[in-house]
Amino acid sequence: MAVTATVRVMSAEEIAAKAGGETPFLQLPQRATLFAERAMRLRQLARGHAMEDFLVFMADLAQAQHTRLAQFPEVPLPDADALDRAAERGVPPLPASEWPRDAAWHGVLRALVADLREKAPAGTQPTLARLETVDGEWLERQADCLLTCVMEGLDLATAPLVAAALQVYWVHMVAAVVQRQSRHPQGGQAFGRIDDATACPCCGSRPVASITRSGGELMGQRYLHCSLCSMQWHMLRIQCTHCLGTKHVAYQSLDLAGADDDSASRAAGAAVQAETCDDCGHYLKIMHSDREPFVEPVADDLATLTLDLLVSDTGLKRHGVNLMLLFGEPEPPPGAP
Ligand SMILES: [Zn+2]
Ligand SMILES: [Zn+2]
Repeated sequence: MAVTATVRVMSAEEIAAKAGGETPFLQLPQRATLFAERAMRLRQLARGHAMEDFLVFMADLAQAQHTRLAQFPEVPLPDADALDRAAERGVPPLPASEWPRDAAWHGVLRALVADLREKAPAGTQPTLARLETVDGEWLERQADCLLTCVMEGLDLATAPLVAAALQVYWVHMVAAVVQRQSRHPQGGQAFGRIDDATACPCCGSRPVASITRSGGELMGQRYLHCSLCSMQWHMLRIQCTHCLGTKHVAYQSLDLAGADDDSASRAAGAAVQAETCDDCGHYLKIMHSDREPFVEPVADDLATLTLDLLVSDTGLKRHGVNLMLLFGEPEPPPGAP
């Protein structure tokens, strides 16, 4: 059952403020480890899980993403002027819905499919076989649907694989832009705040979940994790990630050990919680890396589907997007007409 727990929020920010520290706005996706760590976490979560086969397949897919990201071909990137123009307008410089995609990502998708053919379960083989025959035009139409959150015309069977290739493409672009700008410090910052605090500052996508981070100068500050490019951007824990309201944010989690006197305290200490907002009726999962060091937003979101079922039963709408598992009618991305 779901247990609502009252927890004290803001402590991390309060401590940081008292210490005079400043919270970095962005945590960059690490191209050398991002997908490998996701694969490792998925394997860990898969053991004995009701969705074991699915999670193992997702682990293989993340491992293939890791391999293909390391070999990503050179593609056009926004130049320093384009970054400046986007910053002036307060919009993301690599917008998921508008960026002119280079066809290189089709080759990455075919490589992912080839990597998976041997290990994939029998039920997935026809989907993989189909992806070997589709043309570029079809793939671009699927990408349009995925990146603009339009379910009509979206092929749900192939969507996770198409999305996986697009994730590799966007992580590559974000990492390559950051690397290029760091070599030319006078070129300014690659990415920064945009007008819409609820959207990814690099690509404008919705978050999959949020994660608290500790270590170094961080003391539990909360970051939203982009569903497409894996950039993480800071948002205060007291704020609803959908409407930015602060009045009615609460937390729910699965009561793992059943109902007894300790269930409320266990719920308050859960590594994955649903952060709910009564003002706008939405929720987003929050993952606590201080409670579970290997927690990973995409992987842990997939493994806690039961929490979505419990929370959506109360009438709340899911704000997070997980491109590996699309369900329901997604809302248009923030800022869309
Ligand atoms: Zn993004
Ligand atoms: Zn809200």
